[in-house]
Amino acid sequence: MNCRHCGALLTHTFVDLGFAPPSNAYLTAADLTKPEKYYPLKVKVCDHCWLVQTEDYAQADELFSPDYAYFSSTSSGWLAHAEQYVEQVSSELKLNPDSLVIEVASNDGYLLKNFVAMGIPCLGIEPTDSTAMEAETKGIPVIREFFGEALGKKLAREDRKADLIVGNNVYAHVPDINDFTRGLKEVLKSDGTITLEFPHLMRLLENCQFDTIYHEHFSYLSLSAVLRIFQSVGLRIWQVEELNTHGGSLRIYGCHNEDGRTDHASVATMLQVELNHGLQQLDTYLAFQSRANKIKDDLLYFLIQKKRAGKKVAAYGAAAKGNTLLNYAGVKPDLLPFVCDASAAKQGKFMPGSHIPILSPDQLANKQLDYLLILPWNIAEEVWQQNSAIQEKGTEFVIPVPELRIFEKINEK
Ligand SMILES: [Zn+2]
Repeated sequence: MNCRHCGALLTHTFVDLGFAPPSNAYLTAADLTKPEKYYPLKVKVCDHCWLVQTEDYAQADELFSPDYAYFSSTSSGWLAHAEQYVEQVSSELKLNPDSLVIEVASNDGYLLKNFVAMGIPCLGIEPTDSTAMEAETKGIPVIREFFGEALGKKLAREDRKADLIVGNNVYAHVPDINDFTRGLKEVLKSDGTITLEFPHLMRLLENCQFDTIYHEHFSYLSLSAVLRIFQSVGLRIWQVEELNTHGGSLRIYGCHNEDGRTDHASVATMLQVELNHGLQQLDTYLAFQSRANKIKDDLLYFLIQKKRAGKKVAAYGAAAKGNTLLNYAGVKPDLLPFVCDASAAKQGKFMPGSHIPILSPDQLANKQLDYLLILPWNIAEEVWQQNSAIQEKGTEFVIPVPELRIFEKINEK
């Protein structure tokens, strides 16, 4: 396989997580009697441009099934993050009723609804039908397509170029990152701004967040890799911010190469920090697999130990990262009988691969658990606050990544 950005031959494996079903392919009871499709989950690193990327194996459309269950508005923390961003960016860029904001992967309108409320015209691009429908009920026009150069050119021809293009947690999910970036260039006004948020590869390495690896997530991005991709299409990155979302993300600000804006010092600083973290050294990547294996082993050891001791353990959060972790570890309902999730679309279904049933969090009150394993560790605080009542009754909270930790009381976190 060749690098999706620079075309160099990929000879180094970053991590091999075996085979797993698509992490968002939640199953119904009827599905449990049918065969389940597993795909290889292997990540390579390019030692030429340092783009970390999943190995090729299937088409994107096979993974995004029509009943794809993720609705961004389910997480209250994420909603607040989006609202704060809109407030900040619209005042910084002086957006007004003559501006146009385009969000790629607008999901259920969790972000663009804030522009609607301010009277700033916006357009969502979202291929997933169920979330697009939800966005339209919030007054957001949605184009139901995958974004790339062709759609960027089409919008430009229709005179729908953007003052601001937003892409939150989509850049890492696109199979053809070069084509997507050319699309951004096409649809951006001459003085327009692009902001992209993506989980920072440096944090993934630092905190061994191997459970954020799944098929739909094609690239694992650093500022230096994204800068190179931007430059290859005539775009520039003039500012970068670090965010706490998703275990540590970057928000980059891009513009056309010819744009007069001066580069913010944050860009050079972050490039140096990445260098210091060894992001351009092969050894950094090759050490990752054994660190991931230790987390897997510790989780298995914990679950087996508690099962033998007669303790009751269940999980919270039927998120994609939970599926990666549980499937890599081979955990099944005998070790983890159920998982709770606030999303109504997932309740009553089963986790792909592990077939662990998904229940409503309301059920937690009657279960008298000894331990609650929080799978989406990035929203642990939110889960903690929402479930403080069961903690008072003696349930201890457990987080598996970056290392297995047990918390007897909230204030120990
Ligand atoms: Zn490359």
